[in-house]
Amino acid sequence: NKRPIIMANWKLNGGVDLICSSVASLINQPFAAEIVICPPYLYLRDMLNFLQHSQINVGSQNVSKFKSGAYTGETSAQMLKEAGCQYCLVGHSERRETFGENNASCQLKIERALQSGLTPVLCIGESQKEYECDLTEQVLTRQLTESLENIDLSQQSICIAYEPVWAIGTGKSANAQVAQKVHYFIRQQLKAMYSEQTAQNTRIMYGGSVNKNNAETMLEQPDIDGLLVGGASLDPAHFSEICNYAK
Ligand code: 13P
Repeated sequence: NKRPIIMANWKLNGGVDLICSSVASLINQPFAAEIVICPPYLYLRDMLNFLQHSQINVGSQNVSKFKSGAYTGETSAQMLKEAGCQYCLVGHSERRETFGENNASCQLKIERALQSGLTPVLCIGESQKEYECDLTEQVLTRQLTESLENIDLSQQSICIAYEPVWAIGTGKSANAQVAQKVHYFIRQQLKAMYSEQTAQNTRIMYGGSVNKNNAETMLEQPDIDGLLVGGASLDPAHFSEICNYAK
C-alpha cells in the first residue's frame, strides 16, 4: 500500500516566524504520512536547513518551464533539485487563473521536473461553472491528457492533486463521497493512459478547504491518498492535527 502524503501549500503567506513555529510543531512527530511543506521560493533554503535531519520534505509552489537562459524571475527545476526540494506543484488553479498557465505549460513543467529528479504534483480541477454544468469528468480528462502528453511514467512517478476550484479557500470542501468518486475516475483515466500499475502507484491528493474536521473522512476514502492543504496549513497546530489523521 502507498504511503499517504500530506502537503502544505502556503501560497503567498508566511515568513521566518511561520517557518520556525511549523518546524517546531512537526519535527519530532512520527507521522505515518509523508509530510511536505511548500513555502514561497524565498524561504525554501531556510526550510530545507531547518528540516535537514528530519523526515519532512520540501516542495516548491511552481517551477519554470524553461531549463535556463534569459527568463527573468524564473526558477528552474534543476535549481530546486540542487537546493534539496523533492516536489514541485504544477498548474495550481491560481497559477492558471492569474498567471496564464494552461495544460501546455504544465506539460513542459512536468517534463522539466522529471528530467531534474523532482516529483511534480499536477493540480487539476473544475471551476464552479463547470461543476454546475456537470463537466467535471470532461475537464479532468482534458487536463490529464494534455498535461501528460508524451510523459513517460513507466520509470518515474508524479502525484496528482484534485482541487475543485470552487472548494479552494471557500470553506466549502467537496463531500468525501463525491471526492472519492472523482478520485476513482482520475485513477481510471491513468489506467487507460498508462497501465493498472501506474494508476495504482500514483498518489492522488484532495485539496480544497481541508481542515481538521474533514481530513479524517477524506483520508478514509480508498482512492484519496493524501491532502493538499492551503489555509489550514498556516496554523502549525491545526496542520499537525491534520497530519496525524493519516494512518
Ligand atoms: P485551501 O485549503 O485554503 O482551500 O487551499 C487549497 C489549495 O489551493 C491548496 O493548494
